[in-house]
Amino acid sequence: MTHSAPGRKMYMCLRCGKLFSKEDMELTPGVRCPKCGYRIIVKTRSPSAKRIKAR
Ligand SMILES: [Zn+2]
Repeated sequence: MTHSAPGRKMYMCLRCGKLFSKEDMELTPGVRCPKCGYRIIVKTRSPSAKRIKAR
């Protein structure tokens, strides 16, 4: 069980708020949300990311 890597980078979709890892993002070409396909992604380091205002 080596699932908890400290400081692991995560990415969050600004549209649907989906959190995903780099591996998940590599499933699709380019940088986009694997769930909804949105292209605006922010990097975050913890699952409890601060909410970013997206208008
Ligand atoms: Zn999304």
